[in-house]
Amino acid sequence: MAVPLVDLKAQYRVIQQEIDAAIARVLDSTTFIGGDEVDAFNEEFGAYCGAAAVGVASGTDALFLAARAVGLGPGDEVIVPAHTFIATAEAMTLTGARVVFADVDDQTYTLDPLDVEEKITPRTRALVAVHLYGQPAPMHQLRTLANRHGLSIIEDCAQAHGALYHGQRVGTLGDVAAFSFYPGKNLGAYGDAGAVVSANQSIVADAAQLANHGRTDKYLHHREGVNSRLDALQAAALRVKLRYLDEWNQQRQHAAELYTRLLEQCPQISVPRSLPDRSHVFHLYVVQTENRDALRQHLAKEGISSGVHYPIPLHLQPAYAYLGTPPGSLPRTERLAHRIVSLPIFPELTADQVQHIASAVAAFLGAGSKTPVSV
Ligand SMILES: *Cc1c(COP(=O)(O)O)cnc(C)c1O
Repeated sequence: MAVPLVDLKAQYRVIQQEIDAAIARVLDSTTFIGGDEVDAFNEEFGAYCGAAAVGVASGTDALFLAARAVGLGPGDEVIVPAHTFIATAEAMTLTGARVVFADVDDQTYTLDPLDVEEKITPRTRALVAVHLYGQPAPMHQLRTLANRHGLSIIEDCAQAHGALYHGQRVGTLGDVAAFSFYPGKNLGAYGDAGAVVSANQSIVADAAQLANHGRTDKYLHHREGVNSRLDALQAAALRVKLRYLDEWNQQRQHAAELYTRLLEQCPQISVPRSLPDRSHVFHLYVVQTENRDALRQHLAKEGISSGVHYPIPLHLQPAYAYLGTPPGSLPRTERLAHRIVSLPIFPELTADQVQHIASAVAAFLGAGSKTPVSV
């Protein structure tokens, strides 16, 4: 039984008729940039989050535009977790600000507020709360710090569409938020796409203007901006998929619950920790084990794909050597990089597949004596 890390074809098969009709509608209208589909998606995604939203060209651009919209620029410092995808940091640097890396909690994989506090200087203007793997960062503690030091909070929601923190959707918890609709994300387009979201309408209006050449009218430019628009084909596909997002997140949660039930008795593995005051939408199901690389080889032999998100901490990347953050300075991030492995998860993953994968993991780790769990 071969299992991929994600299976986008399985999802397309379920919604093919609706997607094909939506794409045909855009082709027939020949309105490819802006127009009704984009306006409708902005409305619908904003309503889903409980905030205002504007679609842009990618998640990376959304992060850049969000950071610009809260005024981040040259001379500012911005605190970013070292354990995330490079786009989180890259987009901050693009504003002219300087990235300062902070460590994460090794159970929830999200920012450690105590380490964030240590990294605050008189130049710090913002922090990026990444809801990594699908679980919200500790927003209350981060908000307390941000208020005390006058910082803006930028949420990176690229892996957490629809996740809740104290009953509130991610995207409305900070000052501004960025979403990615990269095809493999919980809400994925059929190409690059993203969105800037905020409970503050004027921040979204500012990001929208920046994303469209600083326009206030067709040939009236309030300032220089960029070209980072969501196109109508992506908007039309995303409108179809948004209607399935909650159901797909629930399917991910069911797969994750089953994995955890099967794997938590295995002493050599630590399963992801879900906190009771927030929901986890399991963009990724990430476990930790000492023998990570050998486990991955064993799974590969069984036809089971796995991943490592992410193998090299950002502060140790050649791209960030200029920041001079020494090895050993973010110990939990560095330890995680050797221990984490992402097991297959996507909404269409079946209980049989989860059991098959969990058995392969347990067999490798020599946990043959553990009591069988019935589904
Ligand atoms: C995917 C991702 C991004 C970047 O999004 P793109 O749409 O690929 O530009 C940023 N941050 C995180 C945490 C991501 O997973």
